[in-house]
Amino acid sequence: GRLRNGLKRTRSGLTEGLTSLFAGRKRLDDDLLEELETRLLSADVGMEATQRLLDGLVRRLGRSELRDGESVAEALRDEITQILDPVAEPLAIDPRQRPFVILTVGVNGTGKTTTIGKLAARYQREGHSVTLAAGDTFRAAAVEQLQEWGERIGCPVIAQPTGADAASVVYDGYQAARARGSDILIADTAGRLHTQDNLMEELRKIRRVLGRQDEGSPHETLLVLDGGNGQNALAQAERFKEAVQVSGLVVTKLDGTARGGVLLALAERLRLPVRYVGVGEGVDDLRPFDAEAFAEALVT
Ligand code: GDP
Repeated sequence: GRLRNGLKRTRSGLTEGLTSLFAGRKRLDDDLLEELETRLLSADVGMEATQRLLDGLVRRLGRSELRDGESVAEALRDEITQILDPVAEPLAIDPRQRPFVILTVGVNGTGKTTTIGKLAARYQREGHSVTLAAGDTFRAAAVEQLQEWGERIGCPVIAQPTGADAASVVYDGYQAARARGSDILIADTAGRLHTQDNLMEELRKIRRVLGRQDEGSPHETLLVLDGGNGQNALAQAERFKEAVQVSGLVVTKLDGTARGGVLLALAERLRLPVRYVGVGEGVDDLRPFDAEAFAEALVT
């Protein structure tokens, strides 16, 4: 399906031709492990997860004779699933929290606004009512883009003019969601990287304002990462995680990148739940993250 198609480029770098690579080999020798290591690192799997995968393969297959490439592929799929499984936790909307507040954070260009549109459409389809808050008050284009999504999917967007206080917009959004009886509020935020300290302070302020409305809010702080950024996505995640108590990840743009292995690096290093992955620009191209499906899409 879409996931498999979206991960085409990562898969082709990682495992296409594995079967021919294995052909004629009697066991998992150093050459083969080295080739695999190169491929895993090129797919941005990262050192730790790569080592863990190779150790796992040796443990599984070391003593037995290699029957064929498929047995290696199978072992690799299992090992990948084991790394991803602990972080594959779909976002559960708690109906007792009304509105259930999702604060989205992330660097500009990672696909934050698009992800909000896709999420809102998904929740509406599932029967939830949704309100959006245009908390990226820094860029006029961000507000407009969110409003376009709102029109497209029939979802109210609370906004103020560019330059307004982001926390005040999110506060308005919260009040509007309450007044309307919305099930879910999704708030956008700015993501300018060059003023990192100000940005983190702004996000903390939004969190404080929400917390004063409802002690448990935001119920989810969703960090959006661009999978195409590979190891840089990991560095971004580490900064946001410390500053704003990220509770879940969305990894976008896995289509069109050969670096989809970064999911493994993220899982191994951050241990944060991965809620969704983005595999295209369309409204249906945001998929709940499923470890086994992902492993199967990566390893032919
Ligand atoms: P923001 O600055 O973080 O709000 O980023 P946008 O939501 O504006 O997204 C930046 C660009 O990435 C837009 O052209 C989106 O259509 C595109 N985009 C977002 N998610 C995905 C994805 O999963 N796959 C692809 N191919 N493009 C995406």
